[in-house]
Amino acid sequence: MTIEASKKCQIAVMMAYFTAYLTILITDLQPLSAYGDIIELVGIGLALLAFVTGIRAHVKKNRLPWICFTLTALCSLLGEGLWSYYDHVLGIDPGSPSLCDVFFVTCILFCITGIIAFLRQDKSISIAGFSADLIISLVAAAGLIYIFLIFPAIQNSEQALDALLLQISYPVFDFGILFGCLVFFFNAEREGYRRNSFFLMVLGFIIVFLADQINLLSEVHDFDIVTLIEPLWPLSYCLLGISCIVSAQEEAQPSHLATFISPLRENIIELIRMLVPYAITFSALGFIYIRYQLHNFVFYWAMFLLVILSIRQAFMLMSNKRLNRELRKLNLKATREAQIDFLTKLANRRHIDDVLAHYSEESENQPLGLLFIDIDLFKTINDTFGHDAGDKALCNVADAIRLSIRDSDIAGRFGGDEFIVILPGADMQAVTVVGERIRAHIRANQELASLNLSLSFGGASMLPGGDLHALLKTADKALYAAKEAGRDRLVVAPCLSSPATQTGLD
Ligand code: GH3
Ligand code: MG
Repeated sequence: MTIEASKKCQIAVMMAYFTAYLTILITDLQPLSAYGDIIELVGIGLALLAFVTGIRAHVKKNRLPWICFTLTALCSLLGEGLWSYYDHVLGIDPGSPSLCDVFFVTCILFCITGIIAFLRQDKSISIAGFSADLIISLVAAAGLIYIFLIFPAIQNSEQALDALLLQISYPVFDFGILFGCLVFFFNAEREGYRRNSFFLMVLGFIIVFLADQINLLSEVHDFDIVTLIEPLWPLSYCLLGISCIVSAQEEAQPSHLATFISPLRENIIELIRMLVPYAITFSALGFIYIRYQLHNFVFYWAMFLLVILSIRQAFMLMSNKRLNRELRKLNLKATREAQIDFLTKLANRRHIDDVLAHYSEESENQPLGLLFIDIDLFKTINDTFGHDAGDKALCNVADAIRLSIRDSDIAGRFGGDEFIVILPGADMQAVTVVGERIRAHIRANQELASLNLSLSFGGASMLPGGDLHALLKTADKALYAAKEAGRDRLVVAPCLSSPATQTGLD
């Protein structure tokens, strides 16, 4: 079965499961506690199935986070199963804390490990920075949860304190997990990669966060809505399971978003991505402060931590921008260096070949001129004046060529003592003019004159749509003709009219 088919099948089964559950609720046939538990266990079982399918499609290291999430679901299944066994088979309330809670806490630990394993896959995320964010946010969350949950809960509840604190710890941990996901979602998805799977994952954690909060409130205020929220836990696992399947598919097709986003847009998107979660948290806190007039030390502490967090993010954004700028500069430098001849700083053979390949692929609507230039008896110059003088002479020739051409022309060192000049738009006359201009600059160069150095030139041009291969061959033959005729001269072949009727030096 292909992953695509299995994905559809799993989603269909899960949708059927939740539709059935909702139908029971809407038709007012509230499930008895035992049925509710069974439905919950079935939901988690389906999620496990989804994980296994997804993991099979992942490879090597990419599997690790999903294996952790699978173990999360497995521990939850064991905890819930044990609870149901106590409740419905033995007929006793396992109480809280109980053995079931050991599984639930292990489940949270696997979940956090899964998130960290996910972060480690992406080298662009700093684990230290992320951990700092996580700790600060957990403290901030604990502060807020103290005001809104713990303090009223302790005041209202008749439960034992240790049982209550255990109940309270779930939403606090959920918040940490959720925050981890959100930070990763907003910071690491630079290329639109794994977007869908992360959306499902975050949604799953939001649901589990809500379920744990409602559960805590229902325990404290003693209203029985646990049956209603029971499917929320398996629903969140199922979303994680589907996210695992989707992620396996996404890995095969990285997005090319980065190629069409302009640097300015990229920066703005990055800014929004990094600061939006904090802006939302600030707005929510501001609203709570204004609406409820909270003057509480813990509240101010939470606000203070969030300010630190935002400043940290702003600094990170600035340093990211600086690193990106440096990276772009280095890339540009590396690209330029790969195209330049180290001695003469003209284009190197590889770049010239690329330019010529471009001309042979794209038919231009203007003529194209070409000059081959070779130093006469260069071996003798090397032998007489030394290799360093020879190198200097090559640089002087390159300077003379550079001085004689337009910005749109491309000059390169073709090898040894041979140069090439590509002259877009140049006909036979223009090639001759450029050739003579280079000769004049060579003659004017005192150093070259002292070496008694001369050059031979072979020029050619072709009309639009001509055969580039024939042009190169003709210019080469013209150079050979110049050498044969006694060197120190320019020979320009008649213009190549069209690929079918070539004229050359034959
Ligand atoms: P011809 O007029 O027929 O071109 O004679 P030539 O001596 O120039 O012959 P050829 O073009 O075959 O010789 C090229 C010489 O260029 C051989 C080599 O010693 C020298 N050469 C090639 N690359 C370099 C370089 O980077 N620096 C120096 N100094 N010499 C080089
Ligand atoms: Mg030579």
